[in-house]
Amino acid sequence: MNRHFDLIAIGGGSGGLAVAERAVQHGRRVAVVEPGKLGGTCVNNGCVPKKVMWTAAELAHAVDDAAGYGVTVQRGRTDWSKLVSGRQSYVQRINRYWDEYIEQLGVTHLQGYARLIGPGEIEVDGEIYAADHIVIATGGQPIVPPLPGAELGITSDGFFALQEQPEKVAVIGGGYIGVELAGVLSALGSQVTLVALESRLLEMFDPMLSQVLMREMAKQGVEQKLSFQVSGLLEGDDGMTLQGSLGEQLSGFDQVIWAVGRVPNTAQLNLAEIGVEVLDNGIVVTDDYQNTNIPGIYAIGDITGRTPLTPVAIAAGRRLADRLFDHRTNSRVDYDNIPSVVFSHPPVATVGLTESQARAFHENVRVYQTEFTPMRHALSSRDTTTAMKLICSGDQERVVGIHLIGDHVDEMMQGFAVAVKMGATKADLDNTIPIHPVSAEELVTMKVPQAESVVDGPIRQAV
Ligand SMILES: Cc1cc2nc3c(=O)[nH]c(=O)nc-3n(C[C@H](O)[C@H](O)[C@H](O)COP(=O)(O)OP(=O)(O)OC[C@H]3O[C@@H](n4cnc5c(N)ncnc54)[C@H](O)[C@@H]3O)c2cc1C
Repeated sequence: MNRHFDLIAIGGGSGGLAVAERAVQHGRRVAVVEPGKLGGTCVNNGCVPKKVMWTAAELAHAVDDAAGYGVTVQRGRTDWSKLVSGRQSYVQRINRYWDEYIEQLGVTHLQGYARLIGPGEIEVDGEIYAADHIVIATGGQPIVPPLPGAELGITSDGFFALQEQPEKVAVIGGGYIGVELAGVLSALGSQVTLVALESRLLEMFDPMLSQVLMREMAKQGVEQKLSFQVSGLLEGDDGMTLQGSLGEQLSGFDQVIWAVGRVPNTAQLNLAEIGVEVLDNGIVVTDDYQNTNIPGIYAIGDITGRTPLTPVAIAAGRRLADRLFDHRTNSRVDYDNIPSVVFSHPPVATVGLTESQARAFHENVRVYQTEFTPMRHALSSRDTTTAMKLICSGDQERVVGIHLIGDHVDEMMQGFAVAVKMGATKADLDNTIPIHPVSAEELVTMKVPQAESVVDGPIRQAV
């Protein structure tokens, strides 16, 4: 085998596969190094299996809603093993797709862990390979904190490996992964306690989203222990116990899930030894064009510490290949106004600045906000809330942030994100004829700006 390539991607996840595919499309010789299944975190332990579980949970909620409409269906116990085996078959289909597609493209798949041994050279299982361009895309892994008994808990990877549904489970972590796993388990019938160090869930998001989500999760029976610092886990006759740093205890869990963040997979890559700048937390330092400080070595995706989402890793990979091999010297990702969704129940969708960020960076900020019960719940016994916040700035009222929580906002946001990216103003939204009757029409019919900051204030009723 010729061991010299134009580009080697280290990691066959979202970013690595994207840069490899695009480089081949530009006529280059490419290899991808991946020890596991092609597709990386998103396909195997992230977005894809998570969305399957979320869909199951949404269906469970829909069954609860159906009776009010005269549709007689009844919830039974979740057939967990059917759900998990169906989900894994779907994941395996995607793995197979990637195996075949990579072969079809002519990308060499080097199976194993890579280590850099110098600029332009890597080692995989004792074999040396060279490339003009090396792209590091090794993603991250879930953190298990160094606390007594921490190994008794599992992580999101362990959640996807569960063959049985836990009956009483503690999810530790109030970020998006913790909230998502807690929501799924609760909807499917587990008794869930969500434990967070912070005083609100989704602390990085606009507080309106946190407030509504906390209320909705409480209605669904998810117990929330906030401002709770876990100092260790114990196992006894009545299951697992979480110890708090103030001496508090939460007991009786048959499963504990750590969802306290992720660490980049960079420790084994030999990066510091060959001079690549890496922060103490494992993040590889890159400029706007994904260059590291060593020419010919680039980093994309989660290891760069910038907006760790699949479409961001894919865009970074594709744009890098376009820059390197298609003379598009300015091809790069704009990390502003990236929309994202939290697959909670109900889901959260967001783009742009939170209200406090907008007030810090912009003059003359106006906030439009509404909260209502969507028509879907007209006849259902659940009264799930939808809340929307539109943040505008300047005399033109340019939209700088949109924050939504409610049924279907996951599908609603993409189009509005295009508008925000294009510089839409409040008047542009107002000039758009609403679609009726859907929840999204509220976003183009908001009338009265909030008089004062609602950063930590109560949610108001729709006007
Ligand atoms: C539970 C969960 C839910 C998520 N949900 C969403 C979502 O809904 N939407 C969304 O956009 N994002 C979601 N994400 C985030 C998304 O999965 C990541 O942002 C994305 O996978 C990052 O892509 P990447 O290419 O940087 O790394 P990854 O996809 O993690 O790929 C890295 C690959 O590198 C390989 N690797 C590691 N070390 C080496 C080595 N030394 N040599 C060779 N290969 C190596 C790994 O095996 C892995 O396959 C979720 C993540 C998790 C954990």
